[in-house]
Amino acid sequence: MADLSTDVRTIKGIGEQRAKSLEKLGIRTLRDLISWFPRRYEDRTILRPIAELPPDEPACCAAMVAASPSVTHVRRGMELVKLRAVDESGALDVTFFNQTWLKNNLHLGETYIFYGRAEGHGSRRKMTSPVVEPEGRREVTGRIVPVYPLTAGVSQLVLRRSIRQGLDSCADILPDILPDSVRREHYLCHVGYAFENIHFPESPEALDLARRRLAFEELFLFAIGLRRLRNRRVTVSVPPCAAVDMDIFYKSLPFTLTAAQRRCVDEALADMASGTPMNRLCQGDVGSGKTMVAAACVYYAVKNGRQAALMAPTEILAQQHYAGLAPLLEDLGIRCALLTGSTPAKAKKSVSAQLAAGQIDFAIGTHALITGGVAYANLGLVITDEQHRFGVGQRAALIAKGCRPHTLVMSATPIPRTLALILYGDLDVSVIDQLPPGRRAVETYTVPGSYHPRLYGFIRKQVSEGRQAYVVCPMVSENEDLPDERKAVTEYARMLQTQALPDLRVAFVHGKMKPREKEAVMAAFSAHETDVLVSTTVIEVGVDVPNASLMIIENAERFGLSQLHQLRGRVGRGPHQSYCVLVSDSRNEETRQRLKVMTKTSDGFKIAEEDLRLRGPGDFFGQRQHGLPGLRIADIGCDTGLLKEAQTAAAELLDADPDLTTCPAMAERVRDLFTQAADTLN
Ligand code: ADP
Ligand code: MG
Repeated sequence: MADLSTDVRTIKGIGEQRAKSLEKLGIRTLRDLISWFPRRYEDRTILRPIAELPPDEPACCAAMVAASPSVTHVRRGMELVKLRAVDESGALDVTFFNQTWLKNNLHLGETYIFYGRAEGHGSRRKMTSPVVEPEGRREVTGRIVPVYPLTAGVSQLVLRRSIRQGLDSCADILPDILPDSVRREHYLCHVGYAFENIHFPESPEALDLARRRLAFEELFLFAIGLRRLRNRRVTVSVPPCAAVDMDIFYKSLPFTLTAAQRRCVDEALADMASGTPMNRLCQGDVGSGKTMVAAACVYYAVKNGRQAALMAPTEILAQQHYAGLAPLLEDLGIRCALLTGSTPAKAKKSVSAQLAAGQIDFAIGTHALITGGVAYANLGLVITDEQHRFGVGQRAALIAKGCRPHTLVMSATPIPRTLALILYGDLDVSVIDQLPPGRRAVETYTVPGSYHPRLYGFIRKQVSEGRQAYVVCPMVSENEDLPDERKAVTEYARMLQTQALPDLRVAFVHGKMKPREKEAVMAAFSAHETDVLVSTTVIEVGVDVPNASLMIIENAERFGLSQLHQLRGRVGRGPHQSYCVLVSDSRNEETRQRLKVMTKTSDGFKIAEEDLRLRGPGDFFGQRQHGLPGLRIADIGCDTGLLKEAQTAAAELLDADPDLTTCPAMAERVRDLFTQAADTLN
């Protein structure tokens, strides 16, 4: 009897060549083979009379061959087999290309099942290259047929036959890793039934059962793994922080915190007072005021005798945080320092020394905060801003500079709840779901490229009213036949300055400039020494220029919704009515729909849900955080109910058996999954 790790070459019909092709799909063993799930299914169960075949989608009919198939030689390498088949409702003229052997396999007077798209209407119809087989065989018709993702050298037929064989040889030995109690309680079918019916469903109901069982299993393993991470964390203990009179901090602010900000602060302070390390994600839309939540935490930690560090993904952002926070916190007796890649060596050395000696309480910076030489006397709070920009390693490195420091992750990427539950299952989450008072929604429009003259007029009008404008140039990917981003930005800026807006002050900034140059440009824009800033997406993250009231995004179709939302968040930060114009000539219906979402709502969470729905989870985080390993069947956009069920089940199981001693096979699978997933999970 086969075992699951048996090589696929033991399957009839899979030799060296096909094995190589399969390897490209990651299929090496029997287990890999039967875990290669269909991408979709074709329901070929329903037979229709010829006259009632739909004209626009494939369907099945049973028809008798009424005239012997004829072969026509059209030209070299092109032969047609033609035949006419009939049923009581009409006649079907069938043509096959280069399948000459069919001539001898389709016999006059016998009935076959044809599956294909029937052109025309009424009782005289045509089909080209349909799927065909004798009535009653039920291999490729008369059933729900799986359609697999393919690769060169492996056809649907080969996969179907190989998987059929694979299932036959190991159906009885498939281990069921779900505990019986869980299976019964959640009405999940047996693993053998699930694998059989995910590939070759007996009926739509059987397919649903199979899918439900396999999706549950994936989500369950995920939930177990995340819960174990969290359980491990809460067993670590640190000295609890003592109460601090926070009113001193609140009173020093130029405004009152919103209720949502206060709630996030309270949640974070409670964590730090709890005696176990805080591990919290603070999610808030752009402009919701995350920085002040961070500042409150810093104040609290420092008053408790700990050092704090805030790491931002870019120089500009670190600089801005420093400029905003240092004056405020210095006034409250907190010694602050800035440490970035462009800090001069001498200053760097001095800041390092002071951090090591505990003479600086709060360090703000970029990844320079974690480079080799920097040491901290007593780093107790680590805050990272705009979390998705950092690699796992960088955050971990900063955390390692302290002794079990509290961590606060601030993310301006609103993450749909379903995704947050999975991605951050081991983090506690606070949401700032409210903007500071007095904000007006940014008016958003989509326009075609022909509007450019009017747009330049609009820029001029805004500038004449004392405002400033951003123009974001197309994102350029490397292997495209377009100028590189530097060229795109500089040329666009030159065109604006020399032709369209010669009377305004135009500046530009792009990712390839030196940090110091970038900073200078940003500082000048911030000080209103320039009117129009042409840029790539470098301004996407966190930049705060409240006087800017207009954002024009060229080739908007190239951006994801979440990214457009981030960009739009750069305006509408001051008291002025602000505008965002998405320029796109795309006629693609999906694109137009996507852009329309932007004009309809300014709620980052809604936009994120929509983005997830339109693009799927794999794309949601862009290339870097590609997909969620282990989730091949579960669809986190749709399976919210099942996810909750799986999470409850996971919690119950772990409460009863924290070390999974009763289900070692499952424990092993969770371990495997989490070694693969380490990157995604941060
Ligand atoms: P983000 O969440 O995008 O990081 P910021 O922390 O940069 O937002 O805050 C955006 C702007 O709102 C800043 O100019 C900040 O000073 C201001 N702000 C923050 N909280 C409040 C508040 N409660 N009332 C008024 N303005 C606030
Ligand atoms: Mg911010």
